[in-house]
Amino acid sequence: MLRASARCMSFFLLSLWSSTAVAGQDSAQAVEMSVEDARAIIDRVGKGRSLQPESWPGGARVAVLLSFDADDETVELRTGGNSINVLSDLQYGRIGLKRIVALLDRHEIPASFFIPGISLALDPHKAVLINQSGRHEIAVHGWIHENPASLSRAQEKAALQRSIRTIEELAGYTPVGYRAPSWNFSEHTVDILRELNLLYDSSLMSDDSPFEILRNGEATGLIELPVSWVPDDASYLLPRNAGAISPRDWLTILKDDFDVAYREGTMFLLTMHPDIIGRRSAIVVLEELIDYIKSKPDVWFASHRETAEYALQQSAD
Ligand SMILES: [Zn+2]
Repeated sequence: MLRASARCMSFFLLSLWSSTAVAGQDSAQAVEMSVEDARAIIDRVGKGRSLQPESWPGGARVAVLLSFDADDETVELRTGGNSINVLSDLQYGRIGLKRIVALLDRHEIPASFFIPGISLALDPHKAVLINQSGRHEIAVHGWIHENPASLSRAQEKAALQRSIRTIEELAGYTPVGYRAPSWNFSEHTVDILRELNLLYDSSLMSDDSPFEILRNGEATGLIELPVSWVPDDASYLLPRNAGAISPRDWLTILKDDFDVAYREGTMFLLTMHPDIIGRRSAIVVLEELIDYIKSKPDVWFASHRETAEYALQQSAD
């Protein structure tokens, strides 16, 4: 079954292969690479100054960011939507979303929902449900979970503009955040995000606290709220994946991850998908995790937007 993590990995391998193929690199050529050339490749999108504040609002020592990527059918639609069974499996995200919103409301905590534009257009009720409490945020996640690296610059920008317009029409506000489909940047993504006046991105993995993105070594003003394959339900909870584990085993990993974030006083960001975490045996584990986090003093639950705005404000003071 081609599902999120498997697909993410295939995208990763595809982009890796295509970038090496385009450059004509093999190991014999790669060993000739100079340090300067290696640095230029790495620095296309880099990590700038830390935006980790000394403490979070109210003196909190850790920010907890729950994010849900409501991809639903787009992950199959983007390749033509041939499998009715895969579409139906992904469509379970609509059931999952209801459970997630009810859980968040019960705990009165905010979250961020990254939704492909066409996923929202196919089911506008998503925006109604998410908007009800006034606590949550809807942000950009491509148009149809496309691979930005496979598009021209103009196509990539047009897809994001269409997504932003759709969120404006159906959610009633202009989104300020972006998460790349499959966390996959193109050569142009950072430049396009700046042109579209987005405040933050949440797709890179080079840290676990906020930082400013650099583009070819230059500061961009764009805030990164980094993600990780570890706190990501798609990495562990897809039953047909070779690496699938029990949701309760994943809970142990998440608690360990949170404990270190708490000890170091940084940020705990969890990526989930309604068609995965919304399943019955997984949602109970999410609630146990929230209970565990809430049992600690000085924890700040926040949307990505609130976190980015606070980090930016603190860095300016
Ligand atoms: Zn996604």
